[in-house]
Amino acid sequence: MTDMTPIDYRQREYSDAIKAFLARGPRLFINNEWVESSHGATIGVEDPSSGKEITRIADASDRDVDRAVAAARTAFDDGRWTGLAPNARERIIHRFADLLEAHADEFAEIEAIDNGKPKGMAAAVDIPGAISQLRFMAGWASKISGEVIQPYTMPTGTVFGYTLREPVGVCGQIVPWNFPLLMACLKIAPALAAGCTLVLKPAEQTPLTALRLADLVAEAGFPAGVVNIITGYGHTAGDRMVKHPDVDKIAFTGSTEIGKLINRNATDTLKHVTLELGGKSPVVIMPDVNVAEVAPGAAGAIFFNSGQVCVAGSRLFAHRSIFDQVIEGVAATAPFWAPRPSLDAEAHAGPLVSKEQFDRVMGYIEAGKRDGASVAMGGDAPTADGYYVNPTVLVDVNPQMSVVREEIFGPVVVAQRFDDLDEVAKAANDTCFGLGAGVWTRDVATMHKLAAKIKSGTVWGNCHAVIDTALPFGGYKESGIGREQGRAGIEAYLETKSVILQL
Ligand code: ADP
Repeated sequence: MTDMTPIDYRQREYSDAIKAFLARGPRLFINNEWVESSHGATIGVEDPSSGKEITRIADASDRDVDRAVAAARTAFDDGRWTGLAPNARERIIHRFADLLEAHADEFAEIEAIDNGKPKGMAAAVDIPGAISQLRFMAGWASKISGEVIQPYTMPTGTVFGYTLREPVGVCGQIVPWNFPLLMACLKIAPALAAGCTLVLKPAEQTPLTALRLADLVAEAGFPAGVVNIITGYGHTAGDRMVKHPDVDKIAFTGSTEIGKLINRNATDTLKHVTLELGGKSPVVIMPDVNVAEVAPGAAGAIFFNSGQVCVAGSRLFAHRSIFDQVIEGVAATAPFWAPRPSLDAEAHAGPLVSKEQFDRVMGYIEAGKRDGASVAMGGDAPTADGYYVNPTVLVDVNPQMSVVREEIFGPVVVAQRFDDLDEVAKAANDTCFGLGAGVWTRDVATMHKLAAKIKSGTVWGNCHAVIDTALPFGGYKESGIGREQGRAGIEAYLETKSVILQL
């Protein structure tokens, strides 16, 4: 693979539409209006492909958060959204999805510039995924209903008992930087379908698609105050939402460390909390597979989105009899997954999101080497202005090493051998996380056995990280609390009220 043309790490030129978008002043979206922050402080936003600051966003103050929460509170309490006919809510959410679809190319470019992921990947995965979340949940708006229940201790016909499903109320939604728009829509869609109002805070590193999305809110027909989008830091603006007495629910996706902190901080007001957190997902390759076909799948499981994926297949377990072949097959994908600037049309992977993340990932690689791991692929970073890390495979690892135990959130996989099914199931479960797992085999019985043994919210067979809006998604153990997507996803935004009438 040494005959590759050298990669040009300079970011390509932005389109005029994006340049104009970036030139807007820092604003918050509250009550269907763009407003200034109360204290005028701002946060710089970088393009990770170049490491350069490209715009500044508002750093929401406590007063700004309070203002956004008050807007959502009023909009919830006066029934301007909850009180609409379900089919009216459904139509507005669909219109929102239509508008997003109409601007798909622009959203893909913004996401690429802001997060560093290739524009082609954003266009193929993030934007359609975001639209799909909205469309699937839009339909739920008109399918929420309680049930009539026959009481247990009272004679039939003397009491009429039934349940009502009601929206939880005002939701604070805090999302991370790895799939900014997709995560935002994954949070917004069920809340709106349930009849909730919300304040969304994107990650400070990647706020741009959420801000562009705010432009479409009023046009879609949402009444003022139903969708509020504010930018700011987690420990200030995010924290204020978590502790706010007028916020009824916090939905968070991010690191396990911050998820635990949020869970603690939400206790005083006893909010509903759903948490989608970190992972260290195993990928198990059984000896019966065709290695030439499966190795690229195992590589994609970790190198897609430069490994900045909560379900990234970061622990590879290959059967001893095929281990060397699997590593060779994974290593052969290096040119495909080599990071390039996000607007390079040939890119399949981009830089990491920030300098902080770059340092973190390189620190893990160095720690792995110090602990005795060998580098079978990558292990280094190209000389460039952006935050590029070459896809990396570490072998000769053991379960005590930090590279094996901790979530790296970068393009780094640790590979281990195993001999039998029970042994690999035990090794796969030897982690505090439980988000996803991949199993590659042609044997249906092995597949089902491992699916039952592995403790994680999702198990994939002969694929990895396939996400569908209809299927619930979430974590076992320290990977989270609650489920998103599917029926479970809408349930997480509903209260259940029992009504008992004496006849
Ligand atoms: P990562 O470690 O992947 O950068 P974090 O878990 O730190 O992710 O951040 C995910 C989201 O949580 C971001 O929107 C961030 O601003 C927010 N956040 C960080 N700290 C807090 C906090 N103490 N309270 C509320 N939100 C927070």
